[in-house]
Amino acid sequence: MVLNLEKAARIAVHSLRPNRPYHVQWLVTRKCNYRCKGCNVWREQDTKELSTEEMIRGLDILRELGVIDIVFSGGNPLLRNDIDEILEYASRFFITTIYDNGSMALEKIDALRHANFVAISLDTLHEEKNDHIKGIKGSWKKAMQTVEKLHKEGIHVGVSPTISQFNIHEIVSLTKYFSGRGIPVWYCLYSHDTTADSDQLFKIGKPDDEFEIADKEAMIRLCDTLANMKKKDDNILITTQTLNAMKRLFLDGKRLWKCRALQNFFMIDHLGRVAGCHLRRPVSSIFELPKLWNSNNFDALRKVYRECNRCIYLCYIVYSLHGSVRGNLQIVQDNWKSARLFWKKSRP
Ligand code: SF4
Ligand code: SF4
Repeated sequence: MVLNLEKAARIAVHSLRPNRPYHVQWLVTRKCNYRCKGCNVWREQDTKELSTEEMIRGLDILRELGVIDIVFSGGNPLLRNDIDEILEYASRFFITTIYDNGSMALEKIDALRHANFVAISLDTLHEEKNDHIKGIKGSWKKAMQTVEKLHKEGIHVGVSPTISQFNIHEIVSLTKYFSGRGIPVWYCLYSHDTTADSDQLFKIGKPDDEFEIADKEAMIRLCDTLANMKKKDDNILITTQTLNAMKRLFLDGKRLWKCRALQNFFMIDHLGRVAGCHLRRPVSSIFELPKLWNSNNFDALRKVYRECNRCIYLCYIVYSLHGSVRGNLQIVQDNWKSARLFWKKSRP
């Protein structure tokens, strides 16, 4: 069951209700088996995490709050032994996406059949370059095999490159390679820790010149090219509004969005702590969230976050641009053709 009528109806109703948290990223584990450059997780792993029962209880709370989509990431979420159970339960109520670095998905195929999208992070078509970024020899080959096999198995797999100075000139060819094979591509943007909050929920890593986008012209051209390509290509899963916002940001620094952290989206970590985004300090546990969601304290934090301009984390830009009733409608409009394909694939 990937998308049945009951779930589709629930999502449609919730996406039209104002003042809801629509999007949640849940970092379900702090364990990782890779050693990516520019990432802190593998240096600061933690074996503690919520139990299966706590995860299910947390998902019920998100359901009651009206959340419509959840991204499971980590660490590598597939390193959790109970990920089958978590995905099966979550997929009954939410649009679910799960990330893998390409190393674990083939061992978890049955669990992944529950997810709406499986995102394999892959940054380049060049084996050595990819292995250099991931810090693991053989990671590129493994990821390529994984994508191919999942696609053949009928799982909704997509490739998710992180755009950085390291691969900015390859993003178009990588996109064409996968979309030409009927495999969707969606993007992350290189990010690093700023000094937003000393007690932030989650640390990614320090700035790295190898990845920091210095060639702004190339980034602007890339936004234009992807915007043109996506007119004819349903497999490019980034909205036109997001591409426009990114282009403007690199053109003259203007932000076309107001941040909606702790309003339309929030993060949960492996211990169940909730923060508006990973750069902000935890403000609740998932279990206390219902009683705090409409509090004055949360409203005050929302005001601060709305004026914040400390990050360009692409997911947050997307959630901020599209985290409203109007924004949800824009996604539907923008991805109408993709949605039709998705439905076709989902039906038995
Ligand atoms: S980027 Fe992802 S796969 Fe790589 S070390 Fe960090 S958490 Fe692990
Ligand atoms: S802009 Fe929003 S998502 Fe980014 S650091 Fe500020 S509050 Fe967090």
